[in-house]
Amino acid sequence: MGKVTGFLEFERLEEGYEPVEKRLKSYKEFVIGLTPEQAKVQGARCMDCGTPFCNNGCPVNNIIPDFNDLVYKQDWRNAITVLHSTNNFPEFTGRICPAPCEAACVINVNGDAVGIKSIEHAIIDRAWDEGWVVPQPAEVKTGKKVAIVGGGPAGLAAAQQLARAGHAVTVFEKNDKVGGLLRYGIPDFKMDKGHIDRRMKQLEAEGVVFRTNVVVGEWPKDSKVTNWAKESVSAEQLKAEFDAVLLTGGAEQSRDLPIPGRDLAGIHFAMELLPQQNRVNHGGKVKDAIRADGKHVIVIGGGDTGSDCVGTSTRHGAASVTQFEVMPQPPEQEDKPLTWPYWPLKLRTSSSHDESAERGLLKREFAISTKEFLGEKGKITGLKTVRVEFKDGKLVEVPGSEQVHKADLVLLAMGFTNPVTSVLESFGVAKDVRGNAKASTDADGGYKTSVAKVFAAGDMRRGQSLVVWAIREGRQAARAVDEFLMGTTTLPR
Ligand code: SF4
Repeated sequence: MGKVTGFLEFERLEEGYEPVEKRLKSYKEFVIGLTPEQAKVQGARCMDCGTPFCNNGCPVNNIIPDFNDLVYKQDWRNAITVLHSTNNFPEFTGRICPAPCEAACVINVNGDAVGIKSIEHAIIDRAWDEGWVVPQPAEVKTGKKVAIVGGGPAGLAAAQQLARAGHAVTVFEKNDKVGGLLRYGIPDFKMDKGHIDRRMKQLEAEGVVFRTNVVVGEWPKDSKVTNWAKESVSAEQLKAEFDAVLLTGGAEQSRDLPIPGRDLAGIHFAMELLPQQNRVNHGGKVKDAIRADGKHVIVIGGGDTGSDCVGTSTRHGAASVTQFEVMPQPPEQEDKPLTWPYWPLKLRTSSSHDESAERGLLKREFAISTKEFLGEKGKITGLKTVRVEFKDGKLVEVPGSEQVHKADLVLLAMGFTNPVTSVLESFGVAKDVRGNAKASTDADGGYKTSVAKVFAAGDMRRGQSLVVWAIREGRQAARAVDEFLMGTTTLPR
């Protein structure tokens, strides 16, 4: 283990941020990772618990006590080997994962879990800097061909596992670049897209072929996502040409708010704004791009995507940014110790909230429901809302609490419903009650859909979830596909 008395001697240290004034001038990452010496001290805080709850709390079951100990001993080379043994892309999770491992950490009883995410971030950045992340092409090819539909984190993790198992893998992606929501949903200031590009190069060197701008089946008619595809292939073509097909198309159907006034100009899904901004950041041209400059912006939805809209609107130069959340306000962070089982209710304040608040722009409203969009001459001018409260386990409106709020731009960030159903329908795959691909997660033989040799994983199977869950599903589905093709598999569970 790290240092026997480490957790008693050393305090948790958070990663630093660039000053707000500097980071608002660009869309660049601004987190300042731990130095090797700081990471060593943080690794020393790990108790190497006999039953490491952190490992169980991590969806990919990272072997956390081991890499904490290796960082404490400054054995970075072996630390990345341990980290990569369970996670294909720790540079993604080390930046944007909400770290359920830390919520599960035993030391979290005092509210000061081991800083596992910052240690993970330090390990993988060091590994790339040192040149330790290299292609690992399979020594023996199997002659089997696998098509992966969707180049998000689940598809990329599966592609890497299957290519390393010796299969010829082709990833079909409807956008011009792979990455899924990592590429076009997560703002650059949270994760630079160069991290995806260099992984793509690694995967290509391992034999993975990427076919971008290709839609499988037909483009969904009701999709609000811009269609960038230039080519289409049919489900029948894929089934005929490949020995197995894995569907990892994500869940990008945004939840709508069908109330009076919804058709007014100036109301957009978050997933219209965020992808546009990322495209522009990388030199892309977007016709009639959504802008928040000088506008009173209201973001409906209090989660991470809503927070990303706050950060983007602040960078645009909004006149004000108000974020609505229908659920009541959780306890303040100062109310320590705020530990299990209360931690999921903790009031989370993101870096985007901090930036907007420092500029005097931000207002966060909880327990508020939007009743109507108001407008003039076809354009949004405001919202009519009502307060809500829990009564007998139900959210009910508070009589007489109606309010009107001024708005020139409204961004809907209320999560996602189900996957792009046209892909599932083109394969004829059975859906579950939520509209996702129906497939089990059995340790052996799981991830199979109702259609022979077609598998499904990630958000397309489990519904909207975390990137780390997508990576887990991609890895496990790869094992299932490998076993299906070869009769046996050595890929990890
Ligand atoms: Fe270390 Fe926390 Fe995991 Fe225990 S639960 S092994 S202290 S990281």
